[in-house]
Amino acid sequence: MDPILLKYANLDVPRYTSYPTAAQFEDFEDAEIWHSWLTGLKKDASISAYVHIPFCEKLCWYCGCHTSVPNGYDRASAYVDTLLQEIDQTAPYIGADKGNVTHLHFGGGTPTYLNAPDIKRIVSKIDETMGLSAGGEVAIEIDPRTFSRAQGEALAEMGFNRASFGVQDFNLEVQKKINRVQPYELVEQCMFDLRDVGIQAVNFDLIYGLPAQTVESVIETAHQTARLNPSRIAVFGYAHVPWFKKQMKLIKEEDLPGTQERYEQALAVAETLKAEGYIAVGLDHFVRPEDSMAKAVRDGTLRRNFQGYTTDAADAMIGFGVSSISAFPDGYAQGARDTLSWSNAVKNGRSPVVRGLIINDEDRMRAEIIERLMCDFSVNPIEIAKRHGFDEGTLLCAFERLKELQSDGMIEMTGPTVSVPDNRRIFVRNIAQAFDAHYVQVPARHSKAV
Ligand code: SF4
Repeated sequence: MDPILLKYANLDVPRYTSYPTAAQFEDFEDAEIWHSWLTGLKKDASISAYVHIPFCEKLCWYCGCHTSVPNGYDRASAYVDTLLQEIDQTAPYIGADKGNVTHLHFGGGTPTYLNAPDIKRIVSKIDETMGLSAGGEVAIEIDPRTFSRAQGEALAEMGFNRASFGVQDFNLEVQKKINRVQPYELVEQCMFDLRDVGIQAVNFDLIYGLPAQTVESVIETAHQTARLNPSRIAVFGYAHVPWFKKQMKLIKEEDLPGTQERYEQALAVAETLKAEGYIAVGLDHFVRPEDSMAKAVRDGTLRRNFQGYTTDAADAMIGFGVSSISAFPDGYAQGARDTLSWSNAVKNGRSPVVRGLIINDEDRMRAEIIERLMCDFSVNPIEIAKRHGFDEGTLLCAFERLKELQSDGMIEMTGPTVSVPDNRRIFVRNIAQAFDAHYVQVPARHSKAV
C-alpha cells in the first residue's frame, strides 16, 4: 500500500455521525437543559424518534452495539414497560405539535427480539403521545436468524415500511468465526417474506475486515447481496476493540486481515456493488438508483445523523431507551448507558439523561462543513463560515491542515472549495477531521480510517 495512504488508513478518526462527536459529551447535572431543548422546539418542528432495544438472542463476537442476552423474556417485557413510562414522561415537554414524527426507527440490539404485541405497544404509545405523521418512515432492524413471516405480517400491519438486515458476510467460514451463522437461503427467505407482506424497502449491513475474509470472499458476498436486491447496502469496516467489547476477545487477532487487505476488501466491495448497478453514497452506502437516498444525493439533501447516512431531515431527534442519544439544534443528550440506572431514573419519575453537550455557533458552523464533506465530498467552507457569521480566520487551522492533505493528494482545492477525488472517498473522515476543533489524537478512542 502507498505509504501515504497507509499513514491515513491507520489513523483513528471519528465516524462524524455528529459534530462534536459523542467523545466530547460531558456529564449533565440535571435534566433542565434537555427539558428546555424539548420545550424549545417550534410548533412546526419535525421530529425523528429513535427507540433502542438492547436485547439479542445470542451475541455476535464482532458486535459493538449496546446489547445483551437476557435470561428470559420477562426482562424484555419489563424494559418495554419502562420505555412506555419514559415516553409518557418525555412527550409533555415537546414543544412541537402532535403529528410531527416523520421518522420512527427501532434499533438495537435486535428490536425483533420483542414479540409483536410489545413492539405494537411502543409504536402505539409514540403515536398516541407524539403523533406519527402520515406517510412517514417507520423502520426496524431485523436479525434474519430469528425472524418469522408472522412477525413480518405484524410489522407491516403496524405501519413499518423499511427494514434493515444484519448480513455482514455470506461465507460460512467467516460466519463461524464471528458466531453468526445465517445461510444465504435463510436471508433470501426473509427478503421474500418481507416483500411479500408489503415491506419493500430493505437495507443490508455488510462488514469487511472480519476474520477469514479475503478479497475474493467479500466480492462473492457482494454479488450474493446484489442478487437479493436490497434497496440500500451499508458497508462498514470491522473495528476490533476487545478492551471495550469483551466478546471480541473470542476473535483471534491472527485471523484478522491487515490494513492493506482491509483497504483492498473495501475497494473490492465498492467496485462490485457499483458494477451490480448500485450508486455509491457517502463513505459507506450503496443504493439502488430509484431509492430515495439516491435522489437525496442528486438534490444535495443527503444528511448524516447517529444512524449514519439518511434522508431524514427532521429538526430534532428524540431517543428513547437505555443509552439512546437525542439531537437538538442546541445540543445533544444521552440517556444512562446501563439499564439499571436508566430504569431507576424513569421509574422514579426522573429524566434518564445523564450526558450531553451544549453546542455553540462555531460548532454548528463546523458541523455543517463536516456534514457536507461527508455527504457531498465537496464543500466551500468559507461560504458556510460566512453564512454562520464567521470570517475566514476562524478556519485558519483547518486550512493549514488542508495543505498537507492537498500535497498528499487526498484533496483537490479550487479556490476555497475542497473536493475529495473519487479514489480518496474512503478517507473522507481524515479530511473532515481537518475541520474538527475538538479532535484529540487518543489511541483507540475512534475506529481506524480504513
Ligand atoms: S444480532 Fe446485531 S446487535 Fe445482536 S449481537 Fe449480533 S450484531 Fe450485535
